[in-house]
Amino acid sequence: MDLRSLSRMVGRSGRHAAAALTLVLAVASVADGQPPDVSATSPTARLFTGGRLIVGDGRVIENGAFLVRGERIVRVGNAAEVTAAVAPGATVVELGGRTVMPALVNTHAHLGWEGYTSWGSGNFTRDNLVDHLHRHAYYGVGTIISTGSDLEEVALEVRLAQRVGEFGGARYLVSPGGGTPGGGPNPRFTNDAGWWGLHAVTSPAEAREVVRAEAARGVRILKIWVDARDEQRGARVKLHPDIYAAILDEAQAQDIRVIAHATTLEDHKRLIAAGARRFIHMPYDAAVDDEYLELVAARNVFIVPTIGMVTRREPYRRPVYEDPFFQEQVPDEVVAMLRDAAAGDGAPPRTAADDARARVVRDNFMRLRDHVILGTDAGAVGDFFGYADHLELELFVRLGMTPAEAIEAATTRAARAFGLDETGAVEAGRSADFVVLDADPLDDITNTREIAAVYLRGVEVDREALRARWTE
Ligand SMILES: [Zn+2]
Repeated sequence: MDLRSLSRMVGRSGRHAAAALTLVLAVASVADGQPPDVSATSPTARLFTGGRLIVGDGRVIENGAFLVRGERIVRVGNAAEVTAAVAPGATVVELGGRTVMPALVNTHAHLGWEGYTSWGSGNFTRDNLVDHLHRHAYYGVGTIISTGSDLEEVALEVRLAQRVGEFGGARYLVSPGGGTPGGGPNPRFTNDAGWWGLHAVTSPAEAREVVRAEAARGVRILKIWVDARDEQRGARVKLHPDIYAAILDEAQAQDIRVIAHATTLEDHKRLIAAGARRFIHMPYDAAVDDEYLELVAARNVFIVPTIGMVTRREPYRRPVYEDPFFQEQVPDEVVAMLRDAAAGDGAPPRTAADDARARVVRDNFMRLRDHVILGTDAGAVGDFFGYADHLELELFVRLGMTPAEAIEAATTRAARAFGLDETGAVEAGRSADFVVLDADPLDDITNTREIAAVYLRGVEVDREALRARWTE
């Protein structure tokens, strides 16, 4: 931790300010002319100690400590065993009883289109993508999968530029989309004059060709739209089971992970039988039955329920623009714009059908709780990057999860769903992607918003500078 951020934290007002961090710097000796030292005595080694560690997989370490070397966590344990003695010369960062949890892993969002005062394909530039990666980082999201709406030439270039260190932000993963001609995302995207389309496929052979071409471009995640999404375009044709079977089979051969957009129980069952293991959305049309639950358990399926999207009209939802935690990252004019838009948005009266659907969502969610992972749909239908992730966690708990379960769904399990072994846990060997919190989210899930600091790949995110940039 640098001194600037230390002084910022010490200077924080509010109920947690008393627990100021203390910093002990030890000077490492580096021989002249030697390459950068990455041993335990390097100044880049930092020992974070004296906090509650939420590992991410359900374990909690009281009075814990962990050693970060470069961008990796190299040792984790309790503060009595992981001491300065195991890392002589390391910078010691006293956590002062704070809570550390893994950075979040968001598996469903749409980067690039949001402009905060505008929305559309015209916003899809490198600069805007980088901004969205920083938005996620600001809120403690370490990894983001953008699903099926990215302009691939731009997206893959930005992904590569991030990997070679040109900028920070949440780790960017791109998931191109495939579907039936005229299918794909909702009209909000497809009615845009600049919509670049999806990979439309009409036969199993074509589908395999698309998967192979994406693999050759370095794509590791693919989204498929199974629903007949767009009545306006007259598609009304679901992706044929023979086609998605070919995609799933070819993807397996190419080491590509597929996530399927499907919202009905029947489609979920067929897709799982064909080899699908990841879903954007859960069945919203019917109560899940034992046959489905057995399939989900036997095939180790992961579900992104996207509760924020399906509960937008629930009476308990307060508007984002009223929340100071949201307001931190936008200028007043954006708050005013959202307020005006909401005032003109006459919500239809709530019906018995709405209530019935809300019950199905809640019941299905709880029956699938061990398979749920985090995804927000931010960038498409609202709630906004990074902020939406905390809302989703809150909604998981509102529907019945414990805070510990919600955090596991949003970190370790979400990472595992996509084979992202390098992140998602405060664990030796993983990337140092974590959030330091002033209050414990295991007591109250909304404490994930009490962010003292975010570290991604071992580097502290300069939240203050980002906030200043966004609110000016
Ligand atoms: Zn989406």
